[in-house]
Amino acid sequence: MPTAAAPYTTVIGLEVHVQLLTHTKLFCGCPTDFGAPPNTQVCPVCLGLPGSLPVLNRRAFELALRAGLALECRIAPFTKWDRKNYFYPDLPKGYQISQFDLPFATDGSLEVVDPRGAFPPRRVGIIRVHLEEDAGKSMHDEAAGTGDSRIDLNRAGTPLVEIVSQPDLRSPQEARAWLTELRLLLVYLGVSDCNMQEGSLRVDANVNLHVPRGDGIAKTPIVEIKNMNSFRSVERALAYEAARQWEEWQETGIEIGKAPKQTRGWDDAAGVTRAQRHKEESSDYRYFPDPDLVPVTVSDADVAAARGAMGEPPTALRRALEARWGISAYDADVIVNQGRDVVAYYETVAGMVGAGKPASNWLQQDVLRTLNDRGGTIAEFPVGPEALADLVGRVARGEFDTARGREIFAGLLTLGRPATPADVGTAVAALGITAVSDDDLVELVRDLLAANPKIVADVKGGKEQAAAGLIGQARKKNPNVNPAKVRETAIALIRGS
Ligand SMILES: [Zn+2]
Repeated sequence: MPTAAAPYTTVIGLEVHVQLLTHTKLFCGCPTDFGAPPNTQVCPVCLGLPGSLPVLNRRAFELALRAGLALECRIAPFTKWDRKNYFYPDLPKGYQISQFDLPFATDGSLEVVDPRGAFPPRRVGIIRVHLEEDAGKSMHDEAAGTGDSRIDLNRAGTPLVEIVSQPDLRSPQEARAWLTELRLLLVYLGVSDCNMQEGSLRVDANVNLHVPRGDGIAKTPIVEIKNMNSFRSVERALAYEAARQWEEWQETGIEIGKAPKQTRGWDDAAGVTRAQRHKEESSDYRYFPDPDLVPVTVSDADVAAARGAMGEPPTALRRALEARWGISAYDADVIVNQGRDVVAYYETVAGMVGAGKPASNWLQQDVLRTLNDRGGTIAEFPVGPEALADLVGRVARGEFDTARGREIFAGLLTLGRPATPADVGTAVAALGITAVSDDDLVELVRDLLAANPKIVADVKGGKEQAAAGLIGQARKKNPNVNPAKVRETAIALIRGS
């Protein structure tokens, strides 16, 4: 929506290339491992040498099918392969095998919801999802000053899905949030590792402005920003580009259709987009059906198998955690966004404690914070779910308070080996923590009330929160007392007196 700050609407559509989590390439048996020496993972098929014949990697198709289903697409019962012809040094065979007019999935959607309410829930349409092979990689040896270009073809033939969204996004922030949700979904499905440092997920963004005026809406020419490899770059590039288009619009007033579609690149260091060559129209690619590959038919059984392999996607899992454990949408969002392993860890703790909220608090405030500081994965975390559940259970039963629990937790982190519930028991004994009997507690609180007539008067006058003033004094007399019980006992004694 136009606002005083931005008198236009930013309209954004995204094209996302995702590398599928297969061991081998799309049409041959070459490995797809990252970081191998250049040109060690190539064969006649992925180079397109005369006489070589491609064979579809069934695993790649299954993973792509899973992605299409999770994005709520219509799955085509019949799809074929096309050659997209263009000449580029990293594509020695002169064409890329892709899907042109019959992609395997169309007409889907993916919703993004911000539990903090920074933007309204937005359901973004998916125009199409198709499979294609990646090209190789050019490495320009500019540092040596020789102007040499070297080509590494290890990546040629690597399976990608391309996901094309409708232009339904309305701000750079929404675009980033939606990409984050898409990545999470694909990782949950086991479709891709979405490792952006290794180029497993790349983003192109189409953006223009809708400017309201007397006779309707003026639209600025669409600009495509190519090949961004971080979500932060996408957000920054879109913000820059919207401001740049607004300035240009005010100067030139040129509308969509009056100028060719422009392609720009994002210079992250300079924080600007720069014009690149004009984009080829699809007719420039001279697509035609690949004569070497048979069309693919997708049966109901294939669809059912892919559905069965999907597992609970993030959206469903958030709702399930809220319902199963009575935690807030915000808490469920934080936990689910950490990935399936963290969800499993959380559910183990919550199940053993028999309560979702304390498990969620300890996970977020202690486990995830520590993990964040130290690095590593939840599987490597020295306090496993059973040990944490034992600790949280003791706090929940009032054996000791959260502050004491944190001391024990810190001790468990320094054992130099995975902590067990037995270690929690040892730590409790070492700290001299013993349960305080009800009689001892009552006696202690009576003494404190006698010494604090002001607090007694305040509580009598209806200010129950004044009783909290006794907790610090009680802990000085006996560090094992439970703060909540001190407060409850004090109020009960004052009321009863
Ligand atoms: Zn190969």
